[in-house]
Amino acid sequence: MQARQAILTRTGGPEVIGWQTVDLPAPAPGEVTLRQTAVGLNYIDTYHRGGVYPVDLPSGLGLESAGVVEAVGDGVDGFAVGDRVATFGPVRGAYADIRNVPASSLFKLPDHITDQIAAAALLKGCTTEFLVERCARVEPGHAVLVHAAAGGVGLLLVQWLKAVGATVIGTVSSEDKAELARAAGADHIVFYTREDTASRVRELTGGAGVRVVFDGVGLDTWEASLGSTGRRGLIVSYGNASAPVTGIALGVLAARGSLFCSRPTLFDYYADPAERAAGAARLWEMIGSGKVKVTIGQTYPLEQAEQAHRDLEARATSGSTLLLP
Ligand code: NDP
Repeated sequence: MQARQAILTRTGGPEVIGWQTVDLPAPAPGEVTLRQTAVGLNYIDTYHRGGVYPVDLPSGLGLESAGVVEAVGDGVDGFAVGDRVATFGPVRGAYADIRNVPASSLFKLPDHITDQIAAAALLKGCTTEFLVERCARVEPGHAVLVHAAAGGVGLLLVQWLKAVGATVIGTVSSEDKAELARAAGADHIVFYTREDTASRVRELTGGAGVRVVFDGVGLDTWEASLGSTGRRGLIVSYGNASAPVTGIALGVLAARGSLFCSRPTLFDYYADPAERAAGAARLWEMIGSGKVKVTIGQTYPLEQAEQAHRDLEARATSGSTLLLP
């Protein structure tokens, strides 16, 4: 059987995403062959492509996909040909039409979750679940700040936080994105590209600052996050869409009000089978109940991944992005 797949032989701009056709071997022990119907684009794909997160080359690209099990290797329990499943990695290679993946990385899809919703929401939604409920442990009445509130993770965070009962301030770069964030439930919008975010957040919170900042933008928003966090509050710095935050002296957390800071990753919060199952079940429940709606902002044919990366890095996307084989 032949497979079409993205291949990185060097790191760099979106133009380094190459394509190859390979003969796909039968699944090894512990693997299944996954026929993919939808692939999720994630910011981490750009870190792998660009070298922000080093990868051994040559490498496949992409973590997240959904589809149908087409063959099952020896020793695989719990999955059968025809099952609808999705994965968020950690094995790279999701930019493909068909591939072999470890069965241990799969989640079975409930009937109410389509393949496209799964590929748009599994990685970003499980991230949202652990950030809100297990990392920051947001409670009703907390004031929180969500940077890039109209992004893939951002729109899910805003809705989840509203469902928990938080007051949500969202930052965005444009009017269109402000509309999306408001529709998702954001109580207040700050245009962080033209307003002083920390001053606006202090105004909106009666001077107190927020209890939690969710910051996936990184370097460009670090100062704004520090300035927006109230005494003994928490900065959850979970990504680097602008660039990584480096070289922070811990004393700054003392000077700004005995702050906490976490730099969490999905894989540390989805580390064992029980928490993986519980986290995904919680996500499907939040979607099934209608508390969280998944916005597929744009789709591209699979082999236009280069353009999709350009648009994501140019801040031209909103919500989740799918690549369609
Ligand atoms: P998004 O859809 O949120 O895209 C990034 C957004 O960041 C842009 O749309 C843009 O929104 C904003 N942004 C601000 N500054 C820049 C900049 N200089 N360059 C590009 N974008 C910028 O992406 P994802 O939803 O895929 O991911 C969001 C963040 O979450 C990423 O940092 C990602 O790495 C992180 N993440 C972390 C995980 C973890 O386990 N720690 C897991 C999953 C995601 P605007 O135009 O409004 O400014």
